[in-house]
Amino acid sequence: MRTRLSICKRKVRYGSEDEAVATAQRDGLRLRPYRCDRCGKFHLTSRTKGKRVPDYERAKKGPGRGSPPGP
Ligand SMILES: [Zn+2]
Repeated sequence: MRTRLSICKRKVRYGSEDEAVATAQRDGLRLRPYRCDRCGKFHLTSRTKGKRVPDYERAKKGPGRGSPPGP
């Protein structure tokens, strides 16, 4: 993924993927690390495209919109 410089500048940089993951998990955030091609470090993104969204994440958005609740 191509990272915009403006995004790179305002995001926290992590020296390694492990560090980024550890920080996200410590804060209880559902974020994914990715390597930035601007600075060569890692940032965290909330984008989970292509990844399965856990049921409890969908539930947080409330009923009625999107997919129906499971069995
Ligand atoms: Zn960057």
